[in-house]
Amino acid sequence: MVSANTELAYDNKIETNVVPTTVDAAINWIRNNSMWPMPMGLACCAIELMAVAASRFDIARFGAEVFRFSPRQADCMIVAGTVTYKMAPHVRRIYDQMAAPKWVIAMGACASSGGMYRSYATLQGVDRIVPVDVYVSGCPPRPEALLDALVKLQQKVRTEPALSRQFVK
Ligand code: SF4
Repeated sequence: MVSANTELAYDNKIETNVVPTTVDAAINWIRNNSMWPMPMGLACCAIELMAVAASRFDIARFGAEVFRFSPRQADCMIVAGTVTYKMAPHVRRIYDQMAAPKWVIAMGACASSGGMYRSYATLQGVDRIVPVDVYVSGCPPRPEALLDALVKLQQKVRTEPALSRQFVK
């Protein structure tokens, strides 16, 4: 007489550990929760950028606390502060050295539009040299505004076709 092996026929432990999903959703979930910033602190906005990593605001809650000072290990450049023409080529070079896929947040009025510096020395928006995904208004923006930008960027990444984002814009 053959006895039914219920252990093999229906393993309840396996069933609860399997999550059906798509490749896009899985890759975007990983990218969303491991956004490693490249801190491009160029002026006073960088102080607010530093504050966002401190305990009061704690960017670690969003999986983005691993600030890397090596562009090869970062995927989200946060341009915080005034971009002068002197610094612009270096900002672009660091962006080029970041591995794709990569994103950019322009933090503050200066990075977004030149701010109050309508002068010959200041780039009128970092989007003239790198593609910006999210702009943060304010002078300076509060750390909460940067967190809000990070959440918006995560929402954007969540809906992107994951594989085509491998290539540089
Ligand atoms: S936006 Fe304001 S706080 Fe930020 S770098 Fe410009 S002047 Fe400084």
